[in-house]
Amino acid sequence: MKNQIIYLNGNYVGKEDAVISIYDHGFLYGDGVFEGIRAYEGNVFKLTEHIKRLYESAHSIMLEIPHQKEEMADIIIETIRKNKLESAYIRVVVSRGAGDLGLDPRSCSTPTVIVIAEELAIYANDLYERGLKLASVGYRRSSPDVLNPQVKSLNYLNNILVKLSSMQSHADEALILNNQGFVTEGSADNIFIVKNGVIKTPPIYLGALEGITRNAIIDIAKEQGYLVEEVPFTLHDVYTADEVFLTGTAAEVIPVVSVDNRKIGSGYPDVITKDLLNAFRKKTLIDGVLCYSKNL
Ligand code: PMP
Repeated sequence: MKNQIIYLNGNYVGKEDAVISIYDHGFLYGDGVFEGIRAYEGNVFKLTEHIKRLYESAHSIMLEIPHQKEEMADIIIETIRKNKLESAYIRVVVSRGAGDLGLDPRSCSTPTVIVIAEELAIYANDLYERGLKLASVGYRRSSPDVLNPQVKSLNYLNNILVKLSSMQSHADEALILNNQGFVTEGSADNIFIVKNGVIKTPPIYLGALEGITRNAIIDIAKEQGYLVEEVPFTLHDVYTADEVFLTGTAAEVIPVVSVDNRKIGSGYPDVITKDLLNAFRKKTLIDGVLCYSKNL
């Protein structure tokens, strides 16, 4: 991408000048929070929800973001505009900032705030057509009393380890259980199964991030007249489901056709998953906050 502009601590700078201290506790300890947001044809999708989650994550770790929420929304929109992007993937990062080598967050006086807006690297169409292969992994989802999955923190090592494990099983993505053996989510996506026409997703308290796409899909599915249940389920329920799909800001709604080498349903992306993906894509074009248009 040419002349990419990044927001960094109050300034809009070129990519090469967007540098932070090696003493930043985001880098040293993963001490910080982030969001991944998407803009579709000039509209930012679910901006308020993403900002709310960012501030809640920060509040939970006692990190004060040095902007009001409205100001943060303006910074995000301005970053998209400066990069002249209609469709974009936006990454907002707030770290504890630069401090001493010790863990003590009090040594960090000013949080680092970064907004990156990039051209969208859309998942290959092929993946939506042939569906993903998942592998369940030995690592468990970090439990709320260890590292709460609701905090979208810069510490993604749990997720990276499960991703690595699934790659070793030659799968496209991981399926993570909690320490009671209930299904939670993927490494960076929420999971849904369909059985006898009923759509099911694990309740958040089992140990999943409350995905904004997850919530949008629950709403859309209900609008389309489907029955949706937030209920605990196990690997057996996944193996014997009629359809399985993942949701996330980057992935949208992506079909799963095999889990631990068990074929799911017909073995091909099926009706309800496709229906929800279409309805979701339509929604992204009509919902959202206007950020940029080449015609303006
Ligand atoms: N779970 C995890 C662990 C994630 O990192 C993400 C993506 N950020 C999701 C689920 C999906 O959340 P969302 O739909 O808000 O992108």
